[in-house]
Amino acid sequence: MSWQGSIEVICGPMFSGKTEELIRRVRRAQIARLKVQIFKPSIDDRYHKTQVVSHSSQAVDAQVVDNSEDIFRYLQDTTRVVAIDEIQFFDKNIIAVVNRLANQGRRVIAAGLDLDYKTIPFGPMPELLAIADEVFKIKAICTVCGNPATRSQRTVIGNKATVLVGEKEAYEARCRAHYELDEANNLSSTDLSI
Ligand code: ADP
Ligand code: MG
Repeated sequence: MSWQGSIEVICGPMFSGKTEELIRRVRRAQIARLKVQIFKPSIDDRYHKTQVVSHSSQAVDAQVVDNSEDIFRYLQDTTRVVAIDEIQFFDKNIIAVVNRLANQGRRVIAAGLDLDYKTIPFGPMPELLAIADEVFKIKAICTVCGNPATRSQRTVIGNKATVLVGEKEAYEARCRAHYELDEANNLSSTDLSI
């Protein structure tokens, strides 16, 4: 049997369980005795520099990389499964990197935010979702009403940076009805191209 590469993308808002699902898939691959390598971008330094950690405190060791091409610097020949968390933070070159990994016969498991806090598709996510063999889109729980939540509400006012790495002090999961974009962060139509 020859190895078939593939691309799985896990997406959804903050707190939806993307990292938990990535860790679950990694653990199952390890049970199958497949060599797994886990990567995360250096921009995400919450909790721990060399681990991927979920909000429910599950953790796996990870290699931190400064850019997408660095994944090949650390990649070992015998690695069959490549897991990448917070993939939305990578540059657009991550699309070519992920494709190359899959074309080499590797299984790629990628987790990332589909939308930024303004509900604009996040960085390379649209292309990644399009080239994926399998997409797993999950929801969190709205902190206002308890319904399924598809959005990440920024609760810090007046910070316009698309990337503000943070936690419960800066973001909440919200449903469509309870998501609000505050005036200070409001967008003009030209902002939609970012
Ligand atoms: P993500 O990677 O998508 O941000 P995690 O896998 O790190 O999510 O965390 C998911 C866990 O977060 C849930 O299993 C739950 O324990 C916790 N959690 C905290 N707040 C919420 C919320 N509003 N909705 C759902 N889960 C939440
Ligand atoms: Mg996560």
